Amino acid sequence: EWTDLAELLQQIVDQGGSLYPEVELAYDRSEGSYLVGVSPVFLQQVLQNIVINALKYTPEGGRVHITAFSGLGEIAVRVTDTGIGIPFEDQPRIFERFYRVDPSRNRSSGGTGLGLAIVKKIMDRIGGIISLESTPGLGTSVNMTFPKVIANPSI
Ligand code: ATP
Ligand code: MG
Repeated sequence: EWTDLAELLQQIVDQGGSLYPEVELAYDRSEGSYLVGVSPVFLQQVLQNIVINALKYTPEGGRVHITAFSGLGEIAVRVTDTGIGIPFEDQPRIFERFYRVDPSRNRSSGGTGLGLAIVKKIMDRIGGIISLESTPGLGTSVNMTFPKVIANPSI
C-alpha cells in the first residue's frame, strides 16, 4: 500500500489549524514525490501525534513549522515548535510508554503518554528514524526520516 505523505501532512495541518487556531501553523515542502510504501494508517498515527504534540505544548501566540523534503530514497520531515520544551532530564525517557512530563504543564489536560511510544514503534517497524531536540522554555524540534520503500513490507 502507498501513501502520499505530502497530502497526508496537508490534511493534518488543516485539522490541527482548526483545533488550535491560537498557534501559527506553517507547512513548506520541496518539490518531488512523497509516495511512501506504507499504509496511511501508520503514517497518519506518526505524523498526527507529532504535529498535535507540537500544537498542544505551544502556548497562544507561538508557532509550529513543518517542513518536508523529498530525497532520492527517503523523505525527511521536521516539526519545530516554539513551545514549552521538555526538561533535559525527561528527554531520555520521552519515548517510553505512559511517560509524561508533569501533567500540570498541559494546556488541554488530555493525553495518555502513549503517543510517542506508538510513534517510535511504528518508525522502527517501517525502518524510519526519529529524533527529538528540545530546549526548555524555547521549543522542540522533531526530525523524522521515512524510507520510500521499506525492506519488510508486512506493514
Ligand atoms: P497522548 O499523545 O497519548 O495523547 P501525550 O501527548 O501526553 O499523550 P506523548 O505524545 O507520548 O504523550 O508525549 C509524552 C510527553 O512528552 C508529553 O506528556 C509532554 O510532556 C512531552 N512532549 C511531547 N511533545 C512535546 C512538545 N512538542 N513540546 C513539549 N513537550 C512535549
Ligand atoms: Mg501526544
